[in-house]
Amino acid sequence: MRILIFGGSFNPPHLGHIRSVQTAAAALGPEKIFLIPASVPPHKELDPDSPSAAERLRMTALAAAMIPGAEALDIELRREGKSYTADTVCELKARYPDDELIFLLGTDMLITFPTWHEPETIAANASIAVFSREKGRQAEIERAADILRDRYGATVYVIPGEPVEASSTAIRALLRARGGAELLPGEVYAHIIQKRLYGAKPDFEWLRREAYAYLAPKRVAHVRGVEQEALRLAERWGADPGEAAEAAICHDITKRLDHDEQLRLCEKYAIMTDELERASEKLLHAKTGAALASALFGLSTDTAIAIRFHTTGRPGMTTLEMITYLADYIEPGREGFAGLKELRKACYEDLDRAMELALRMSLDEVRGKGSPAHINSVSGHAWYLNNLRRRGLAPVRAEGIPDTVG
Ligand code: ATP
Repeated sequence: MRILIFGGSFNPPHLGHIRSVQTAAAALGPEKIFLIPASVPPHKELDPDSPSAAERLRMTALAAAMIPGAEALDIELRREGKSYTADTVCELKARYPDDELIFLLGTDMLITFPTWHEPETIAANASIAVFSREKGRQAEIERAADILRDRYGATVYVIPGEPVEASSTAIRALLRARGGAELLPGEVYAHIIQKRLYGAKPDFEWLRREAYAYLAPKRVAHVRGVEQEALRLAERWGADPGEAAEAAICHDITKRLDHDEQLRLCEKYAIMTDELERASEKLLHAKTGAALASALFGLSTDTAIAIRFHTTGRPGMTTLEMITYLADYIEPGREGFAGLKELRKACYEDLDRAMELALRMSLDEVRGKGSPAHINSVSGHAWYLNNLRRRGLAPVRAEGIPDTVG
């Protein structure tokens, strides 16, 4: 039996790794494939903000799931000290004495192989397979392979194929700048975003795709509108545009769920609710949306709170909360209700005046339907009204909207 072994920091595992293993597996036909993350890589210092070895193992397992017959092994994580390949190969040889072990590596590792810890032990117990990381280095690879054959009597397979030119180091930088998704296996990327590993922030195209999958198709245009409006408001009021966009993209993620599904999410995420909320899907979706979007996409606390209060508002909202609440109210797709024109104007002139008007409009609408208003909206309105008085400002007058709430 042939066993293909691929070791690395896998910090994180990327599509370059996957391509290398898939191409080598197609050429060599191994029965088993082991991906082995190093606990303490001997060749490089891990970045101080690297996730734990257990986390790298988990990502490696997610990557292995993309390759038929592959699994992630924790063999190096269970050993103390530096993770020498020689030790790993000996341990695997003891487990599989009659099989051919083939250690797969990239060009950079092939060239430095003679400087590794006990290269002769590795070569005595395993064959070497090399897959180029970059295009056009074939002659250099052949020369390095010959050195290993001559010096250690190693069996070396040079695997031809098109590499995916990627490195974990470059990907970590891309992740912080909302990039990198196209260089990572989907499940690995989703995991990184969920845990916000490496200080990653979600790629907006990816986040939209993921979040929109939860929406009824007719709601997508609204959510796009809220994102556009939230970005304009963030620019106007100096808020973080990334957080404003994330809140907007995710704000209605549970809107489509029925009452029972909303209540199940409340139970799952231990969400406290009052009597009025329990009776209303509209009120519940803000809370369940914040919890679900946080669990899926690792939102910051500030972003989650902006989603949580996007339906009722509350006293003393942060700029991000006000932007999310108001963008939802005035996005370009909204039309045909009293007060909208005045509210749109106020949103770009004074956030306190805009919030007072928006909450007044909302309370007027709720009461007009004979429904009870939520305490957060009532106290929120009183807070903003008081704030205007304190600042010596008059509330906005809007046609068709009462000047005071009853
Ligand atoms: P870093 O950027 O931190 O150096 P890396 O991208 O080289 O990381 P490692 O986990 O250190 O990833 O590499 C594990 C193995 O995968 C090594 O043998 C390396 O040569 C090989 N490798 C890495 N990237 C590629 C790639 N794009 N194509 C083929 N092999 C690769």
